[in-house]
Amino acid sequence: MFTHNEEIRIAADTIRQAARERIAPLAASIDATGELNQEVTTLLWDLGLMTLVFPAEHGGAEQSQGTLLCTAVEEIARHCASSALMLIIQAVGSYPLLHGGSKELLDRVLPRIVAERELAAYLVSEPGAGSDVGNIRTTAVRDGNHYVISGTKCFSTNGPIASFYTVLARTSENGRNGLTFFLVERDTPGFSVGKIEKKLGQRGSKTSEMYLDEVRVPVGNLLGEENKGFNLAMKDFDMSRPAIGAQALGIAEGAFDQMLRHARERKTFGQALCEHQMIQQIIADSATAIEAARGLVYRSAALYDQGQRNTKLASMAKLFASDAAMKITTDAIQVFGGYGYMQDYPVERMFRDAKLTQIFEGANQIQRLVIAREILKETA
Ligand SMILES: Cc1cc2nc3c(=O)[nH]c(=O)nc-3n(C[C@H](O)[C@H](O)[C@H](O)COP(=O)(O)OP(=O)(O)OC[C@H]3O[C@@H](n4cnc5c(N)ncnc54)[C@H](O)[C@@H]3O)c2cc1C
Repeated sequence: MFTHNEEIRIAADTIRQAARERIAPLAASIDATGELNQEVTTLLWDLGLMTLVFPAEHGGAEQSQGTLLCTAVEEIARHCASSALMLIIQAVGSYPLLHGGSKELLDRVLPRIVAERELAAYLVSEPGAGSDVGNIRTTAVRDGNHYVISGTKCFSTNGPIASFYTVLARTSENGRNGLTFFLVERDTPGFSVGKIEKKLGQRGSKTSEMYLDEVRVPVGNLLGEENKGFNLAMKDFDMSRPAIGAQALGIAEGAFDQMLRHARERKTFGQALCEHQMIQQIIADSATAIEAARGLVYRSAALYDQGQRNTKLASMAKLFASDAAMKITTDAIQVFGGYGYMQDYPVERMFRDAKLTQIFEGANQIQRLVIAREILKETA
C-alpha cells in the first residue's frame, strides 16, 4: 500500500473530516442546482487548499505541493467532484502565472489574489483546438507596450466566475512553437463571458465560452517566454494530470464505499448481495483498481515534487484512474440495480462525474499517445 509521510497524513485526516462533515451533505444540491456552494469555496480557502501550489510566502505548501494537491482533491472528490475541481482549476489556471510571471507581476497580483480570494481560469481550448493545441487561432499582436488579444476560447472552467485568466494565444505562425501565455484580468475591456454550458456531470463547476475582442494587456502580463507557451502548458500537465487522476480516484472510492454499503444491506434470494460470488468479483476488481490507481497517482505526484520528469507516469495516472473511475461507478450502479439508476442515490451522480475525468486535461487517447511517445524516447 502507498504510504504518505506524517505531515501529509495529518493534512489528509483534516481534509477528510471537513469533506465528510461539511461538503458531503451539500454534494447532491450542488449537482442539482449547478451552482457551487459559497460555503464550500470559503471552506477550501480557509483550509489553505486554494493556494497549495503557490509560493510559500503567498500561502503555498512548503514542500510536497503536488502530493498535497492530489491528497486534497482525492478526499474531496470522494464526496463531491465539482468541489474538488475548484482546487484543480485554481492550480492549473495559476500555473502559467506562478511559473512564467515576472517578479514585478507576481509582486503586484499575488497578494491581491490571496487577499481577495480570487479564482483562476485556464483558457487554452478553442472550438478548433482541444487535443490539437498547436491549432490555436486566438492571436496576440504586439502594439507598443501592449499585446492585443482576439479570439474565442471554449470549455473554460470557472469562465463566468474567475477574476484572473491565463490565456494561450498565437504570437507567431509556427504551430505549437508560436504560442504564448498571457495574464488577462476579468474587467479588461473586450473580454466577455459567452455561452454557459449545460453539462452531464461535475455540474457544480461553471464552464463557458470566453470572448476576447481586441483585449489589450500590458507587455508585463506576458507569462514565460514568447512562443514558448506550449512548453509551459506541458509542464502544467505534469502537475495537473496526477491531480485529475486523484479526482478520478476519489470518485471511484466514493462509489466503492456506496457499493459496499449497499451490497451488505440489500438481500436477494435470502442472502446479502455481498454473499453472491459475482458481486464479490465486482468488489474485488474495484478494490484492486483503486489500489493500483492510488499507486500511480501518488508516485507521479512524488516525482513532480522531487523535480523529476514525471510526464509518462502523470499520463498513466490520469489514464488508469479515470478509466477505473468510469468502470467502478458503472459497476456501482449495477450493484444498486434499479435504485442505482435513480437520482436518490449518489452513485448516479458519481457515474456522470466520472466521465469528465476521461476527457479533460488531455483525453485518454492523447494520454496513450504521450505514454507511448515517452517509452519510445526512453528506449531509443
Ligand atoms: C467540462 C469541461 C471542462 C473543461 N475545462 C477546460 C478548461 O478549463 N480550460 C481548457 O483550456 N480546456 C478545458 N476543457 C477542454 C478539454 O481539455 C478538451 O475538451 C479536451 O482536451 C478534448 O478536446 P476536444 O473536446 O476538442 O476533443 P477533440 O480534440 O476534438 O477530440 C475528440 C476525440 O478524438 C480523440 N482524438 C483526438 N485526436 C486524436 C488522435 N491524434 N489520436 C486518437 N484520438 C484522438 C480524443 O481523444 C477525443 O476522444 C474542458 C472540457 C470539458 C468537457
